[in-house]
Amino acid sequence: MYWKITAAAALALSINAPAWGQAAVAPAPAAPVPAGKLTGQVQPQAYRLDLTIDPNQERFSGKSEIDAVLKAASRTIDLHWRDLKLQTVEVIAGGQVLKPSWQQVDETGVGRLTFAEAVPAGPITLRFAYDGPFQSAPAGLFRVKVGDDWYAWTQLQSIDARGVFPSFDEPGFKTPFTVTLRTPPGQTAVSNGPQTGVSREGGLDVHTFAPTLPLPTYLVAAMVGPFAVVEGSVPPTPQRATPLPLRIISPKPNAGRLGFALEGSKEIVRLLESYFGDAFPYPKLDQITTPILPGAMENAGADLYNDSIIVMDEQATTGQKRTFGMVVAHELAHQWFGDLVTPAWWDDIWLNESFANWMGFRIGDEWRPALNIRAGAVEEGFSAMRTDALVAGRPIRQPIETNAQIDEAFDSITYGKGGHVVAMIAGYMGDDKFRDGVRRYMAVHRYGNATSTEFFKAMAEASGDPRIVPAMQSFTDQQGVPLLTFARSGKGWQVSQSRYARLGSTAPATRWGVPLCLRTTGAARQCQLLTEASMAVSYEGKGALVPNAGGTGYYRFELPAAEWDKLIAGADKLPGGEAQALADSLNASFQAGRASSAQLVAAAGKLALQRDSYASGAGISTLSSYSDAGFLDEAGKAGFQRLTNGIYGPRLKQLAFDPRAGAYAGHDPEETQARQQAVGALARKGGDPAVRAQLLAATRAFLGGDSRALDGAWYGAGLGAVVEEGGLAVAKDLVNRALTSTDPVFRPVALGVVGGSGQAVIGRWILEQLQDSRLRTSERQGLIRMVVSTGATRDLGWDWLKSNYEKLAGSGGGIFFASRLPEMLSGNCSAARADEIAALLRPKLQGKTGALGLERSIERVRSCGVLKDARGADLSAVLAQVK
Ligand SMILES: [Zn+2]
Repeated sequence: MYWKITAAAALALSINAPAWGQAAVAPAPAAPVPAGKLTGQVQPQAYRLDLTIDPNQERFSGKSEIDAVLKAASRTIDLHWRDLKLQTVEVIAGGQVLKPSWQQVDETGVGRLTFAEAVPAGPITLRFAYDGPFQSAPAGLFRVKVGDDWYAWTQLQSIDARGVFPSFDEPGFKTPFTVTLRTPPGQTAVSNGPQTGVSREGGLDVHTFAPTLPLPTYLVAAMVGPFAVVEGSVPPTPQRATPLPLRIISPKPNAGRLGFALEGSKEIVRLLESYFGDAFPYPKLDQITTPILPGAMENAGADLYNDSIIVMDEQATTGQKRTFGMVVAHELAHQWFGDLVTPAWWDDIWLNESFANWMGFRIGDEWRPALNIRAGAVEEGFSAMRTDALVAGRPIRQPIETNAQIDEAFDSITYGKGGHVVAMIAGYMGDDKFRDGVRRYMAVHRYGNATSTEFFKAMAEASGDPRIVPAMQSFTDQQGVPLLTFARSGKGWQVSQSRYARLGSTAPATRWGVPLCLRTTGAARQCQLLTEASMAVSYEGKGALVPNAGGTGYYRFELPAAEWDKLIAGADKLPGGEAQALADSLNASFQAGRASSAQLVAAAGKLALQRDSYASGAGISTLSSYSDAGFLDEAGKAGFQRLTNGIYGPRLKQLAFDPRAGAYAGHDPEETQARQQAVGALARKGGDPAVRAQLLAATRAFLGGDSRALDGAWYGAGLGAVVEEGGLAVAKDLVNRALTSTDPVFRPVALGVVGGSGQAVIGRWILEQLQDSRLRTSERQGLIRMVVSTGATRDLGWDWLKSNYEKLAGSGGGIFFASRLPEMLSGNCSAARADEIAALLRPKLQGKTGALGLERSIERVRSCGVLKDARGADLSAVLAQVK
């Protein structure tokens, strides 16, 4: 799974529907209801699913059979279903057909069958006939109207298979699935296995599919609709003797923009097969798109993506192509990490996501090196550190005891931190040894399940260094960011480790095995394992000390003031990853009350000159976030404006600016990103009037019907400027245009711009317009999120949320919505607001999905207030002096 909350993708979030809860009529169950894992008394062996899916209807229906083994005689059988209306349930055991009573006994979808007499141990077959509702947001079987047609897709991770078919919905159970899909005539149906035939029965097309290789329930897929399809194949490779059938499948309006994905997917499959030394593990690959999934999902042989990730051509922006390379490589890496070898339980989900995250950036980078996709991994790692720096949190690997905890494991710690830690260990072990360990692990557990212990065993064998496993575990099993403090000691350094904490908070003492790689500017890196609380490191090098060589270490560093100044002075020339590490560690030092405001401002200026586009935005965006959080007085804000204009004005003169479509197609991607940062800053009010006027004119021409007047790269900045000038009337027009558009880029950007306008009158209007039936559930929720999280409408949004939280939380199913909901409040910045949030939401979220996200938000809000009081005035004073 890949998810990302960005201005555009944030528009696709939702929550599990609380439709369950009608009065139960059956007697209370005797045995306790399992809060997490089932008891294991039943082992499923094979599923036969026969689903009738007409996307034009509001409900679907199914007949399913599960072959299983009952380990001991029992009067009850627990399994999973959620909000399904079961019509008949039969269990065949010992040649008898048994008819149990049934009851859903838990809101997360635990169901219980109760029999008149004990079912004998041995092989059994469970048979169900049922129907259920399509969801409107991406969790379970959901449907969306695109243009004039309805389409349906499944999204079953983490525990939404139970909303589509009764099942033993746990990753540890891998079985073959034989799927039949009944659809309106002429529609395309896709599942995991290759299609074996289609016939007509009762006015419906009956699509049959070959039985799958062993899969867990969460990877099962069923997609139906009048899709556009392009077909091809991935040619044979040294690892695979026959061509791999490949299709790109997307709603009809996207036909004509699917060729890029077809070609890109071929190359990425080839690169992955080469890394794993192994053929693609399934007999075909379909890449399917939907407008509302906020990311992508690795269903075996039938991956699902948001339209915007896949639907594009060679003219697409650098940002879109980066996302394509990274996300497609991520999902296809999952065909091995996750699908071929599946975690035995959700506590090891890092074995899927940390590795897919690492592979996504790595293989994406190999696909098109000029896009600099690899630097995005470093950025994600440092972004995760900001979450991991909080006292509230979780380690990468953590026991999952209740169903409510499962979705919370899919957070930036598992993805960003996990990916960074994998990169650090791979870098320390050496790429070949690490790859050999991966191959060994895959070979032993093919088509089965595995745990972290088994992964560590394979790595220990491959590395030949027994210290590597405890070092790795010190990062996967412990929360927090190591802070390495450097002090001069003779000709070398004394390096001490502690757990990083922000000003005003204390973190428990923690010790790691840190693969420390350092160098000085102009010299090669030197690595060693830092296991003691404090260690002497001999290193003689001239030039500034670079304590995180390459930026691949998952740690922060602290330097004597003079060493910081030396490093900052050369920040523009550092390799991108090291510049990102500098930006992160310096800001962390500022947040801990150490680095000065002057150092922060000086670094922002130097970093902005970086050639690496990930590093060049890092310093200014830090200052921008403080400005947004209210740190700056009027003189400070004016100084910050002069600072950005002084940096980006000359930069854009050098780069030139032509807003027309395709003006920079084929240009260097880093240069296009630099231009985008410069225009983004200068086109704002208070920036460069000429740039703003040029962008406004192009955007107005575009909205007037000249589709070539504005490149997709400028939709955000251009539409933002137009709304800023035109206010509510323009915002209304833009929403109307968005809701009649099927363009996978324009529609979400236009809605995002209106939601994030920062104008109170627009914010209020949006909160009144939520009933517009053209808004998809996820878009409605995305608009609310934008109003609540954007600086200037934050208070207004908070007032709205106080009286509407319950309604929002219950507004219809969708992946990860509940666990992410409290995060929209994390931009607030005062102890008083932290108290208000805690008082309102703690009682509502106790023990539920989202409880951890809430604690993180409360801590961020409180900690931001502490920092603002301590350092806001000083930062303002320094910025006010900028000429
Ligand atoms: Zn993933």
